[in-house]
Amino acid sequence: MARVGAIEGLFGRDVAIDLGTANTLVFVKGRGIVASEPSVVAINIKTDKVVAVGATAKSMIGRTPGNIVAVQPMRDGVIADFEVTQSMLSYFIRKAQPRRRLLPRSRPRVVVCVPSGVTDVELRAVKEAAESAGARQALTIEEPVAAAIGAELPVTEAQGSMVVDVGGGTTEVALISMGGIVANSSIRTAGNHMDAAISSHIQRHYKVAIGTQTAEQLKMELGSAFPLAEEDSAEVRGRDLLTGLPKTIVVTSEEIRGAISAPVDAIVAAVRDTLNRTPPELASDVMDRGMVLAGGGALLRLLDERLRRETGIPVHVADDPLMCVAVGSGRFLEEIDQYRSALSSG
Ligand code: ADP
Ligand code: MG
Repeated sequence: MARVGAIEGLFGRDVAIDLGTANTLVFVKGRGIVASEPSVVAINIKTDKVVAVGATAKSMIGRTPGNIVAVQPMRDGVIADFEVTQSMLSYFIRKAQPRRRLLPRSRPRVVVCVPSGVTDVELRAVKEAAESAGARQALTIEEPVAAAIGAELPVTEAQGSMVVDVGGGTTEVALISMGGIVANSSIRTAGNHMDAAISSHIQRHYKVAIGTQTAEQLKMELGSAFPLAEEDSAEVRGRDLLTGLPKTIVVTSEEIRGAISAPVDAIVAAVRDTLNRTPPELASDVMDRGMVLAGGGALLRLLDERLRRETGIPVHVADDPLMCVAVGSGRFLEEIDQYRSALSSG
């Protein structure tokens, strides 16, 4: 067995990376998902050095001294900060490698999953980032296609498959057939905007400031896209804007649903918009087989029910929405030759 380990140490491990705005997931060929961490990098602005990446960096948000900033390099589904994205990608690629210095001929093949709206310049930036992090070959796959593969939809067949991926920064709706995207909508409204809407509601209504992580927790615990059978409430701690002191308030699930209604409505509208632009034959496939919800936003309670009511089409939530894209990117990596001839992705 030690021999196998030694031999394996000579070769880079091929990886697929779901570079999300909120979370980055790493899939290693033959192993599955080995890491899932927030897409956050903490940087010391005095020395320009990376202090931490991932979960450790996220826990620093709002808690760092002035010279350390926590950066989310992927914002609104695009690379907002190239250099930081590069550091993050190399951190994740290296983390997936056996503990041994990478030799030139043992460099891994890397698949990076990108939002479908990215420009050619951004695509090149992602590939360059992967190459400079040690990739022998860097390939990209569009996120909705990866989500569809992850949800086991027949993407390479002449059949309409619809996916709705609600992430942190973007929502991507796509209708896929024969490996390509036939109709899609990509909007820069998703989970983060719900968190922001919750913070601003609490601030306006109670004159209490809460952090983004508290707002996100409220969304997960109380949020919904449709009235709940049993409404709920929770205590929240924030800072009273009038006295400057900590204050505890009680908020209800109805209130949170109201607070996030604008971003939720925008997601519903994006789905309807894609359906409106779907060619008739494919629309009939979607009517029969429904759409699949992926991304962490798919976990917002009753988002499926809301979409079902508003579109009249069956809605399924992917088995593990947060992992769906990474699993799909990984499957693409493992069966790359088969997919590459069928997909239009680079
Ligand atoms: P990305 O692909 O952009 O990194 P993810 O697919 O990882 O995004 O989803 C992250 C988003 O999902 C975040 O906005 C997070 O708050 C949200 N999310 C995760 N779990 C839940 C939940 N239970 N209810 C509502 N939203 C959730
Ligand atoms: Mg995603």
